[in-house]
Amino acid sequence: MATSTVSQNLTRGGAFLISSCAPEDVFTPADMTGDQRLIGQTTEEFVNKEVLPLVPELEQHKEGLMPGLLKKAAEVGLLAGGIPEEYGGAGLDKVSGTLLCEKLAAYASFAVSHGGHSGIGTVPIVYFGTEEQKKKYLPRIANGEVISCYCLSEPQAGSDALASRTRAVLSPDGKNWILNGQKMWITNGGFADLFVVFAKVDGEKFSCFLVERGAPGFSVGAEEEKMGIKGSSTVALFFENTPVPKENLLHEIGRGHIVAFNTLNSGRFSLGAYCLGGAKKVLEAASKYSKERTAFGKRLEQFGLIDAKLAEMVIRIFAVESMIYRIAGQIDAGMANAPDSESKSERGMKMLEEYAIESSISKIYGSETVDFCVDEAVQIFGGYGYHEDYPVARAYRDSRINRIFEGTNEINRMLIIQMLMKRAMAGVLPLIPAAMKLADEVLAGPSMEETASGPFAAEERIVSNTKKMFLQAAGAAVQRFREQLAEQQEIVAALANVVMEIYAMESCLRRAQKASSRAGAESPSVMGDATRVFIADAADRAEREARTALAATVEGDMLRTQLAVLRRFAKRDAIDTVALRRRVAAAVLSSDRYPFEAR
Ligand SMILES: Cc1cc2nc3c(=O)[nH]c(=O)nc-3n(C[C@H](O)[C@H](O)[C@H](O)COP(=O)(O)OP(=O)(O)OC[C@H]3O[C@@H](n4cnc5c(N)ncnc54)[C@H](O)[C@@H]3O)c2cc1C
Repeated sequence: MATSTVSQNLTRGGAFLISSCAPEDVFTPADMTGDQRLIGQTTEEFVNKEVLPLVPELEQHKEGLMPGLLKKAAEVGLLAGGIPEEYGGAGLDKVSGTLLCEKLAAYASFAVSHGGHSGIGTVPIVYFGTEEQKKKYLPRIANGEVISCYCLSEPQAGSDALASRTRAVLSPDGKNWILNGQKMWITNGGFADLFVVFAKVDGEKFSCFLVERGAPGFSVGAEEEKMGIKGSSTVALFFENTPVPKENLLHEIGRGHIVAFNTLNSGRFSLGAYCLGGAKKVLEAASKYSKERTAFGKRLEQFGLIDAKLAEMVIRIFAVESMIYRIAGQIDAGMANAPDSESKSERGMKMLEEYAIESSISKIYGSETVDFCVDEAVQIFGGYGYHEDYPVARAYRDSRINRIFEGTNEINRMLIIQMLMKRAMAGVLPLIPAAMKLADEVLAGPSMEETASGPFAAEERIVSNTKKMFLQAAGAAVQRFREQLAEQQEIVAALANVVMEIYAMESCLRRAQKASSRAGAESPSVMGDATRVFIADAADRAEREARTALAATVEGDMLRTQLAVLRRFAKRDAIDTVALRRRVAAAVLSSDRYPFEAR
């Protein structure tokens, strides 16, 4: 770790916006241990051997197949990762759990079913269950005897989950909660044994209950006809005077939102990892196809425009991967630094909250990257990409849901800024002093601030200046709109986009720097090329978003002054991204694989 101030900041979610860190402070895939890699390998082997051969039947919803596969996955420990050892789980660290999710994503429907059970269907009990609830359910969730699911959404309450109409009232004898209402879109609902259900006690106090299949008055709807992830189960649930034992209340009455939202924080992070795995698979397929198909007497791989697509897929995947493992490493470091007074699950909960901003970034960037990759893969396959006999058509349909569930990307963009502002106001994250310091710096005029050196000096400056752009644009927006900023959704989203680009740029940069110092060379590397392209393009995107936000915030002379300052922060030399992309494309084409695996 660098200085104590830096390490203290590093443990705080969102601190990347106002502090810098050393490459050694950032976890990268190259830092994985042998044991962690083994978990990835076991998962990959399981999916290749047990899941992929069954895809055609899974897509047809052959009865019993998906739950059977989940149970089989349990036999090799793939359902036990997030469950502490004392309850029959594997108590995996976050990096291992992330790699597991990534490797499961070779078949999206399986990944979604796994996430519905081992992620959002398990997290509420691990972090909020009583000792009895944990002992009763967790060992059976880990060994696949009980398949679980998370039941928050309703026909009239999706993004606005707290508008739930499902009600719970205590029975006259005080022994049961009586549930009435409906849930919608429940993953695994068709075959689950345990349902984590949110309902309002007396129609007011949002709470959470554990409901078992077979409860009187509880029924499950037909499978929904979905656009994609057809191998997964998605159903509605109906509760008609359903008695639920009193002791099956999870956490406290009126505190269901804490359970719901912390679970989603965890789910969002994992979703980014699933998206990462899916994007890598589609890249492999596109790279292979570009060598098989010929046009105008050449293989597709010989066309610059095809290479540019493959390279851009690699570059965006690299950014997502760098962010996701950085977050996983931060969470593991936070877990390792827990004070003795804190239990593992208390600490785990704190980490979920701490890195909620980064988890939203993982969700948004991951889902938009996999969507970008499947779209470009279809394009590389041409007409064949549009045919179900080829692998990318299904990937295209499967990918689309990721921007919708676990909080839509619109909601997550707003959450990023909302959470940042909350932390700033609470003094947890010194954003306000940082913005004031920047204002002083701007007033003082241009300075000789060229302190960065080394092979990535230009990129270092860009990242640092983009952080200033954020403080500038966010500072202006807060000053103008104050408590009403949330109403200015387009501005909020523009600011969130700048935040995401900063985190992505810095994560790529630190990883490339770490890799380059590991290699002990300042020689050019393909990872360095990918980093340079990503940062050049991300800086353009961030600048545009900051300008959009400023132009919607101030006007006249004030706007002209703000834009002049922005131009100062945005000043940089152009680089030849065409040549750099060609080198990245050559790297993926040399093996038909994502070239920075485990690096
Ligand atoms: C295949 C599938 C599986 C699912 N699995 C589960 C599951 O296991 N458990 C579960 O509980 N739920 C599940 N869901 C539900 C999912 O989480 C919701 O669909 C999602 O939260 C969006 O809610 P909605 O569909 O009601 O859309 P809406 O909330 O109606 O949103 C519609 C559009 O309006 C936008 N919007 C909404 N509010 C705002 C706002 N304040 N500002 C700006 N824009 C806004 C949204 O971003 C979206 O673009 C699943 C859904 C699908 C399709």
